[in-house]
Amino acid sequence: MIGLVDIGGTKCLASVTGDRGLPGTPLVRPTPTGGDPGGFLSEMLDSVRGESVLEAIAVATPGPFDRERATLLNPPGLSEAWHGLDLRATLGRHFGCPVFAENDANCAALAEARFGAGRGFPTVAYYTVSTGIGAGVVRDGELVIARHDTEAGHQVLWPAHLGGPECHCGGHGCLEALASGNAIRKRFGVAPEELDDPSAWAEIGRWLGLAVVNTVALLDCDVVVFGGGVVKAWERFDQELRRTVRESLFLQPPPEIRRAELGDDRNVWGAMTLVRGLAPPATLVQ
Ligand SMILES: [Zn+2]
Repeated sequence: MIGLVDIGGTKCLASVTGDRGLPGTPLVRPTPTGGDPGGFLSEMLDSVRGESVLEAIAVATPGPFDRERATLLNPPGLSEAWHGLDLRATLGRHFGCPVFAENDANCAALAEARFGAGRGFPTVAYYTVSTGIGAGVVRDGELVIARHDTEAGHQVLWPAHLGGPECHCGGHGCLEALASGNAIRKRFGVAPEELDDPSAWAEIGRWLGLAVVNTVALLDCDVVVFGGGVVKAWERFDQELRRTVRESLFLQPPPEIRRAELGDDRNVWGAMTLVRGLAPPATLVQ
């Protein structure tokens, strides 16, 4: 049995693999802003495992984090109580098993590539468009990992010298400063679920379309999958997104463009695949 955890800015999920080796319905708790986050996660896992022994634990965490040490660094979406949390020392000691950790956008990418909208495609790019924007790339079922985490939310689409809006990363005109939930609040004055202006959604579609164009230019990926809170308004911007891709790609055929298929526990599904040898084959899920 594998213990699975998703650490989010507002809520945390914990689950274990069940009889078929797949994650069960997760326990969901609000993310604490103080106290002992390691103890909090241990308690959540204790509640879902019951009397069973955990063979390994896999954690989806916001970046930045230290993959080798399974340790959180200073993720901007979490309070300082979480900064520096050594998952291997806390959870590993409590449960006596190995602990694996991966960036949450990468976990979502893995989940959609193996079990969701990217299933069957050799190269999958996944964008989560939520409060911020993250991305992950999966090739032949495995994450593409380079020096650090991918930061596709900070690809510059509207440079500073042309008046692009400021981004919290210090730059200007990043995709995240143009089309994320936070950008919608800042630029249009409402939450994404309250944005009713068709021209605003068309603009968001165009920015995301350009992100697809850049992604295809570099990766020549087979499919680009979009998930996250802003994508709940998919029908409001997907036509403009697709049109931008069609009109901007000249040397490569457009990739498949799809909305994510898995639910809010997709990070837990992706985390499960980090535990090599114990994870079930993708064919278990239809
Ligand atoms: Zn930025």
